[in-house]
Amino acid sequence: MPVKIPPLPLTGGCQCGRVRYEIRAVPAMFYLCHCTECQRQTSSAFGESLRCEPASVAVTGGMHTTRRVAENGSVRLGDFCPDCGVRILHRSEGDPGRLNVKAGTLDDAAWLVPAGHIWTRSKQAFVTIGEDELAYRQGPEDGGSAMKARWRQMLGIEGE
Ligand SMILES: [Zn+2]
Ligand SMILES: [Zn+2]
Repeated sequence: MPVKIPPLPLTGGCQCGRVRYEIRAVPAMFYLCHCTECQRQTSSAFGESLRCEPASVAVTGGMHTTRRVAENGSVRLGDFCPDCGVRILHRSEGDPGRLNVKAGTLDDAAWLVPAGHIWTRSKQAFVTIGEDELAYRQGPEDGGSAMKARWRQMLGIEGE
């Protein structure tokens, strides 16, 4: 399914308006995570991750950070607004290149279509996966490179 990304920068923020951000480069991919941790964190059916180059994301307002040790031992960081509690970013302590903007916080999220779905083994039954969207029962074995390629295809960006 083709995706028409709005003009850069993409903007967004928390519910109360204290935290605002700009994304100044085209994100590397967009995917949904159906793991039980994302379900708990969002208190919803899945997490929305917009993978961005860290240097392309500028945040103002001052966030607090929560720290969680994942099952595989990696330390996951979550940045949130200290006033309203909305989660803005997910990061990985040992992998500074990995930055996900929680895409529901975009001012305009209507254009988003996921390139893929991960941890579908705990996906809620009422969530339907699009025909051309990639799906993985657990985390992607290739580190997400197939989803990145699919995302570029959806955006109409040629090659790498
Ligand atoms: Zn806030
Ligand atoms: Zn997850």
